[in-house]
Amino acid sequence: MTTAAAAFAAPPELAGRVVEPGHPRYRLLRSTYTRVGSPAAVVLARDARDAAAALAAAQDQGLALTVRSGGHAMSGRSTNDGGVVLDLSGMNGVEVLDRAAGLVRLGPGARWGAVAERLARDGLAISSGDHGNVAVGGLATGGGIGWLVRRYGLTVDNVRAAEVVLADGTQVRADERRHRDLFWAVRGAGAGVGVVTSVEIEAMPLRRIGVVEMAFEAKADGKALVRWAAAMAASPREVTTGAFLARDGSRAVLVVTAAVAADDPEAVRAALRPLLSGPRPLQAKARMAPYTALVSTAHEHRNAGQQRASSTSALLPEMTPEAARALMRAARVLPGAMVHLRWIGGAPNDVAADATAFAHRDAKVFASPLFPPPGTWDDLRRAWEPVWAHGPGSYVNFESTTGADAFDRSYPGATGARVKELWRRYDPGGVFRPLPI
Ligand SMILES: Cc1cc2nc3c(=O)[nH]c(=O)nc-3n(C[C@H](O)[C@H](O)[C@H](O)COP(=O)(O)OP(=O)(O)OC[C@H]3O[C@@H](n4cnc5c(N)ncnc54)[C@H](O)[C@@H]3O)c2cc1C
Repeated sequence: MTTAAAAFAAPPELAGRVVEPGHPRYRLLRSTYTRVGSPAAVVLARDARDAAAALAAAQDQGLALTVRSGGHAMSGRSTNDGGVVLDLSGMNGVEVLDRAAGLVRLGPGARWGAVAERLARDGLAISSGDHGNVAVGGLATGGGIGWLVRRYGLTVDNVRAAEVVLADGTQVRADERRHRDLFWAVRGAGAGVGVVTSVEIEAMPLRRIGVVEMAFEAKADGKALVRWAAAMAASPREVTTGAFLARDGSRAVLVVTAAVAADDPEAVRAALRPLLSGPRPLQAKARMAPYTALVSTAHEHRNAGQQRASSTSALLPEMTPEAARALMRAARVLPGAMVHLRWIGGAPNDVAADATAFAHRDAKVFASPLFPPPGTWDDLRRAWEPVWAHGPGSYVNFESTTGADAFDRSYPGATGARVKELWRRYDPGGVFRPLPI
């Protein structure tokens, strides 16, 4: 075990909430999904007051502070070496505030699988990410691309208010009327403005969805990707697909999962017509399932630094033949990589580019490579550059690098200038600063 360099002098109000090296719980609290850290202390916050106390004590003692909700950051930045980790996993409440309006309040530590399970009891669902072990805190402050994205938009598009502890310990509520700048930043660049201690989100009435899994041969000419994109463009917004490029022996295969936000099997069949009217899939399986079958508590696992892959993404305005060939080439030259594709044309495009800190509102395709070791970030960057030629933006939550280039890709142009200004205004000392600016 690495020895932490500095000790944390816990203030009395955090008594019993601090886990340090040597404590039996330290082994599982030191790490995230992507990184083993060696923090001086992990503070298990119960509420905003604990968060403010940890923040003040870390700053007084000159220790770095890291905010963690679910510990799924691709960059591993939700742990550190020698600093304080503010762990919000215990702040995991899921509360239905108004069933008719679909308004729910979520704690940052709630995992999306648990959120889906609780809301299913009320016949509601949130457009979140796909993975049930990812938590609200990181996803709902960065973007949120999941199975309902075409119909209901990004997670941040459905956030109606957020409670935030600022760097100076002040607790504020941000919404369309109060602290509007902060509310803007929380929806896409929230990691740099404070600790979000709860979010109010609009959920949608939804019980079952149609799920179809298909596989198609994908040749180097990229035609399978172009066909998939054309079928998605012709499909109603109820249909969202997640796809990935994989190898099946010597051939590449595009594995597509389509989720259809419709309860009626006939409506599901009709919605899938464009996807199913192309070339015959190598295989296809269809079923009706509860939403919780896709965003599931079965995804929950402990985070022990087990995922060391490098990742980034590209947000493409369309799938041209050239972009498709670039994606096929990237998948081929990155050994062991998995290239994920999602068609996000739909509700995210209805939101103006300057309405939230998630700028990429013309994007129709989200493409993200996951490149395992011994492959490095530099190898990945070189292989992915031809893809960026077709769409230079990226989604901050899939960046494994914490370099300034990740900021420029995630927050381009006027959005980037405003994010920088707000990160500096709300966090002048750079306590939270997730990326250099
Ligand atoms: C296996 C896997 C699957 C994924 N699937 C999807 C997906 O389908 N869709 C999608 O959109 N994304 C997905 N992601 C990316 C995911 O959105 C990000 O990794 C997200 O940051 C994870 O949130 P977390 O709270 O679990 O992470 P954490 O590691 O706890 O937090 C990540 C960072 O977010 C910031 N942060 C966390 N909590 C707060 C808070 N309460 N207030 C302010 N800042 C905070 C901090 O800077 C922190 O370092 C996936 C990631 C993985 C590893």
